[in-house]
Amino acid sequence: MEEYIVSARKYRPATFRSVIGQHALTTTLKNAIVSNKLAHAYLFCGPRGVGKTTCARIFAKTINCLHPTKEHEACNECESCLAFNEQRSYNIHELDAASNNSVDDIRTLTDQVRIPPQVGKYKVYIIDEVHMLSQSAFNAFLKTLEEPPAHTIFILATTEKYKILPTILSRCQTYDFNRITQKDIVEHLQYVAEQEQISADPEALSVIAQKADGGMRDALSIFDQLASFTGGKITYEQVIQNLNVLDFDYYFRMTDLFLAHKVGECMIIFDEILNKGFDAQHFIGGLASHFRDLLVAHDAFTLKLLDCSDAIKARYMEQAKLCSDAFLFAAIEICNECDMQYKQSRNKRLLVELTLIRLSQLGEEKKKVTGKEYRPIEPIFSQAAESAVHVRPAPVQKTAEQKTAPKGEINQASQATSITQPQEAPPVAPFPTQNRVQQPKKDLPKITTISLRASRAKGVDPNEGNDSQATQTVRKKSYTQADLEFAWREYVSDKPEEYHLSEVMKEFIPVAEANNTVVLTLYNQIDEKLIQEHNSSICQFLREKLSNDQIILHIERKELSDDQKIFTQKEKFEYLLQNNEALVKLCDRFKLRLY
Ligand SMILES: [Zn+2]
Repeated sequence: MEEYIVSARKYRPATFRSVIGQHALTTTLKNAIVSNKLAHAYLFCGPRGVGKTTCARIFAKTINCLHPTKEHEACNECESCLAFNEQRSYNIHELDAASNNSVDDIRTLTDQVRIPPQVGKYKVYIIDEVHMLSQSAFNAFLKTLEEPPAHTIFILATTEKYKILPTILSRCQTYDFNRITQKDIVEHLQYVAEQEQISADPEALSVIAQKADGGMRDALSIFDQLASFTGGKITYEQVIQNLNVLDFDYYFRMTDLFLAHKVGECMIIFDEILNKGFDAQHFIGGLASHFRDLLVAHDAFTLKLLDCSDAIKARYMEQAKLCSDAFLFAAIEICNECDMQYKQSRNKRLLVELTLIRLSQLGEEKKKVTGKEYRPIEPIFSQAAESAVHVRPAPVQKTAEQKTAPKGEINQASQATSITQPQEAPPVAPFPTQNRVQQPKKDLPKITTISLRASRAKGVDPNEGNDSQATQTVRKKSYTQADLEFAWREYVSDKPEEYHLSEVMKEFIPVAEANNTVVLTLYNQIDEKLIQEHNSSICQFLREKLSNDQIILHIERKELSDDQKIFTQKEKFEYLLQNNEALVKLCDRFKLRLY
């Protein structure tokens, strides 16, 4: 390869002004120089590649400059500056504590400290990665740090501030360097690209900045690598291919599909991502970050937390408008769950696919639960018609769901359903709960064609509900165990997302007892908790289905008797040992044990 200077060195800032992304800090340093209030020791903390050593060098150069400029920068012309620029100045000493961390190394340094500078005023000692000094080296250093000669300034740099001893911390002025924002990195890369006559897409630079994670040095070295690989034409496609970065476009497309509840297409895209060689967990992590960014883009107040170029920012804001906060919270949580379960999962692909399915159903759930953003769905009509013929439970349940919407949203829900309502439909409030009955009549949801037809189809007299509404009385229709079981099963019939709930409800069937009490016996705490969480919604559903407003769901916990208990392999084995002498002998003889 031809000889060239890497960009990180070539474009290393030479003045405080040209340091990128650390404006507040460089200003403070400059002010200290102007007012001549220099400390004897500074501690520069911050992630790698954000300009700690660069600032230390500029600082050393500036305080030694013989003719500082009006902006209080180094003149780059005087003898001292030239010596610095040509790296032959005796006023700056750099020690890498990572490789010189012994007591002897520190002694050599402290011996030099005593010699005053020949040119300029100060001798600056930069100790990089100072946290790597050994304990004894630290101790040897401490004394010099406490009482350094007047011409000496120490600049300690570290990426791990918490490893610095308090005795050192208390003797230094501390400066915390920020991670450089993506925007700043992109701008600088653009500048370098122009200087080097390299063409580069803004999106491509954005990806580089993202990969560099706030470090300018890393960003520049990635940039160099790509510039040489692509022959001076850095495109977005090449960057994502070379850096093995997943195209963020996938996340945008996926989110659109989630919002449109298109499970199938999500699966196809996920397959495409896997075929490109990306790790599924990496993808889920990226998806979670995408939702986080959308959440941040939602609000002008938090928008500044979105660290990316303006073009991408605009895209985030646009998609954020389509997503509700609830959707994003839930989506992040689902991704997080998947991420946590990923390691344990045996079928990782299935786990991620399941996550995608849950994400695609999010909007559906929201629509049911909050009733907000309710869009009239075309199939409702045809389903309703079907239900009239085939007695399909699903659409009926949908109406029930709408009615169970929280108080505030009743209007919206009823407005949405009233679209499908014929004029002559009587204003009925079949909703049973107490607070609902107390509401003013105009707020009450109206019965829809669907539920009317469905109830007719089921042989229930729709007027019955009407009567009870008119007098505002409580419905008390009697029901059989069979009716109860039918309604019970119906509750979970169209809740594929509530997998656990539906398993429990299928396995345990309640018993109809006197006084409209429905007793469900469960055998473990988890099931009990789960049903308890859904108790009110199940209750309301049953009341609605069975036209009885007095139904109460009572959950009973029972311990399994011994003969019902599930035994572990070890318990089974011990049981066999107790009752089978031959087995004991066999185990003794062959030294068998069950672990
Ligand atoms: Zn100078």
